[in-house]
Amino acid sequence: MPVILRAALFFWLAACTPVGAVERTIFLTFDDGPLNGTGNILDVLETQQVPATMFMVGQHVLAGPDRGALLKRAKSLPLVTVGNHSFSHANNRYQRFYADTEEVVADMLKANGVLGLKSPPPIPARLPGRDVFRLQYMSRDDFGLSLEEAQREQVDFEFVAASGFHLYGWDFEWVHEDSGKPVQSVERLIDEIEHLFSAGRTIGKNKLILLMHDEMFQDVFQGKDKLTALVAGLRAKGYAFGHIVDYDTETSP
Ligand SMILES: [Zn+2]
Repeated sequence: MPVILRAALFFWLAACTPVGAVERTIFLTFDDGPLNGTGNILDVLETQQVPATMFMVGQHVLAGPDRGALLKRAKSLPLVTVGNHSFSHANNRYQRFYADTEEVVADMLKANGVLGLKSPPPIPARLPGRDVFRLQYMSRDDFGLSLEEAQREQVDFEFVAASGFHLYGWDFEWVHEDSGKPVQSVERLIDEIEHLFSAGRTIGKNKLILLMHDEMFQDVFQGKDKLTALVAGLRAKGYAFGHIVDYDTETSP
C-alpha cells in the first residue's frame, strides 16, 4: 500500500477509535419465562432494538396458551435468543435435582423439546439456581455455593455440556423480592455495573452478563419503564449490548 494511503488509513482508524476507548458489552439475560412480565420485556427489546437472551422453563410454557404465544413471539424476534433453563426448574428442590446428573440432563432435554430448541447444538442454557459456565473457551463452577452444598452436588457439568449445551452463568444480578419487585433502583444498578467494570471484577474482560427475571417486569412494577430506563442509561454510558453466542471468545480468561 502506498505510504500516503497507509497514513490516511491510520488517521481514519485513529479517528474511529478514540485512544483509551474500550468497548464494554452487556449481555442482558432474563430467566424463568414465559411468565407475566415476558411480554413487556419483548416490547422493550423490540422498541429499543437491543439483543437479549431469555432462558425459559419448559413447564412454564405449558402453563397456558398465552405462555406458548410468548415463546413463539420471542423465537420470532432476531434480537432474542431463547435458551434452555430446564423443564422443571428443579421444582425448586435443588439438592435433590443436583444429586443426579442423568436426571438433570433428561430434564434439560425435555425442555429442548417443549421450547423447540433442536438445532444446531450446543443449545445456550442456564441451569436453575446455578451460576455455572461450561463454554468452549471457559469453564467456571458456582462460587456462590457453600462448601456443604458443593460437596453434596454430584453433578458432572462436563457431561451436561457434552449432552448438547453451552452453560452460561452470570456476573451480576438485578435482584428482586419474593413478589418479583426489583430491589435496586435503575440508577443504583447502573452504578453497581460501572463499579464492577472499573474494578475489573467481571468474569470476562470488558463484558458482563446481567441476570434478571421475567417476573420483575410486570406492569405492577412498572416493568416496561424500568427496563427502558436501564437500556437508555447503559447506552448513555457508552455500553454496547451483545448476543450471548458472542460472549464466548478465545480472549476469555
Ligand atoms: Zn431460574
